[in-house]
Amino acid sequence: MTIPFDPENRIQLHDLRFLPSISAQEVQTRVHALGAALQNSLSDDTPLFISVLSGSFIFTADLVRAFEHPCEITFVKLTSYAGTQSTGDVQTVMGLEKDISGRHLVVVEDIVDTGRTLHFFLEQLWAQQPASVTTVGFLRKPDAAKFSVKIDLVGFDIEDNFVVGYGLDYNGLGRNLKGIYVLEPTTHQ
Ligand code: 5GP
Repeated sequence: MTIPFDPENRIQLHDLRFLPSISAQEVQTRVHALGAALQNSLSDDTPLFISVLSGSFIFTADLVRAFEHPCEITFVKLTSYAGTQSTGDVQTVMGLEKDISGRHLVVVEDIVDTGRTLHFFLEQLWAQQPASVTTVGFLRKPDAAKFSVKIDLVGFDIEDNFVVGYGLDYNGLGRNLKGIYVLEPTTHQ
């Protein structure tokens, strides 16, 4: 994954190179702050965390361990990306298995890009009458926003460039990187 003797600590995934953007230490510090913020607002309830797979699996694992109160966790799988491009179409690959009516929900997204995925998913959730919905996005690209969605907690606002790491992949690779890496500008097709 690394390029030998590279002074900029770039990594290569398939045909593309990526530069370090947010360090593993910065990621952990921010995720702990997000967990503490959720703990303050939701400590009287037993919230149900809904992790939007695949990209948010690592973020969810760290976030729920920073939330030191009883909670439940469930997963859905939604897809909209192929390679480095959004397909403009959200598909439910794996739907909700839990009854969410009357529950306090925390929706955990890896990255909010156009907002299409979250917009689509929140509509589905509200139709099932939860008590409340708190949305958490680890990353957000404000310049890419096309759908108006409420995001209560954001880890980092980033520029509108393709990123990998901390659960996010490029065609299957890069999910296990501890920090965030951004596509090197000169290699963009
Ligand atoms: P949206 O529906 O908000 O346009 O896109 C959300 C989904 O697109 C994310 O959950 C993620 O799977 C994917 N995505 C958006 N931007 C990026 C990115 O920069 N890198 C990666 N790896 N996936 C992204």
